[in-house]
Amino acid sequence: MTLLEVRGLSKAFPIRSGAFRRRLARVVDDVSFTLNAGETLGLVGESGCGKTTLARCILRISEPTAGEVVFGGQDLVKLGHGALRARRSELAIVYQNPYLSLSPRLNVHDLVAEPLVTHTRLRGSALTTRVIELLQAVGLSADDLRKRARQLSGGQAQRVAIARALALRPKLIVLDEPTSALDVSVQAQVLNLLVRLQREYGLAYLFISHNLDVVQHMADRILVMYLGRMVESGPTSAIFAAPKHPYTLALLAATPEPDPDRPAPTIALEGNVPSPLDPPPGCRFHPRCPLAQDLCRTQAPALRPLRDGHVSACHFAEELPGA
Ligand code: SF4
Repeated sequence: MTLLEVRGLSKAFPIRSGAFRRRLARVVDDVSFTLNAGETLGLVGESGCGKTTLARCILRISEPTAGEVVFGGQDLVKLGHGALRARRSELAIVYQNPYLSLSPRLNVHDLVAEPLVTHTRLRGSALTTRVIELLQAVGLSADDLRKRARQLSGGQAQRVAIARALALRPKLIVLDEPTSALDVSVQAQVLNLLVRLQREYGLAYLFISHNLDVVQHMADRILVMYLGRMVESGPTSAIFAAPKHPYTLALLAATPEPDPDRPAPTIALEGNVPSPLDPPPGCRFHPRCPLAQDLCRTQAPALRPLRDGHVSACHFAEELPGA
């Protein structure tokens, strides 16, 4: 069942250019996808590709410039403040660094209780009972109630952030690089916790990560972004077995420990993502793509459905290895 449908979502920031001119940096450009209840969609791409801005627009932490975010049958973009506040309890976000996302002034009880106090009538011992339930669900206990974030390890602090995200029984949680600030030794524990919570609570995850090994472990489907646009999407197994966009192939080749079962990487990723203020004409990836041909420099490739549930925006998707 479709829980979230994003249609043509765009976000542009006005940037002052010279004394009087303003130009638009289109950081998210016409992105569309669906997410089913209980599913995990991995959102990947280099830093600066628009992943986090896209997630912030979905939650309306940042206002989209255009497009629709249909959640549970209702377009969140059209909702006024009061109606949005009511629907927000069904969506939550966990950020990369728990020490930055958790207020240092509050103890664990108050951090987890805060959304309950704002959105429900729970108070007193009933509130504390619910907070302890949430802490236990993420592997913490009542002994942690009076601690502050700085007294916790990174893994414990991220568990508090997850408990806080779970407080209002959301249907969808955006996980924005949820383990990349943690020690390697605790990353697997937090990922396993997220898998268990998804099973127990029927959660859908929008899982943002630059680590493709983690995404392969977590995601049912993957959406690859480059310079604000979606360039490939498909089932995780199909994308890892035979990517249909040179950018995805390059990202796979750049993973620290490439899987020997993956197709031999043929593309090295060089240079940086260009500025969204001045995107290259034609295919936006063409200045970095070793497979670029004349057509790529003038004509932007449309997203096309291919085999195995793949969608790719590459003129030559069928000619890639494994295609
Ligand atoms: Fe490379 Fe051309 Fe495909 Fe763009 S359209 S990814 S430049 S081959």
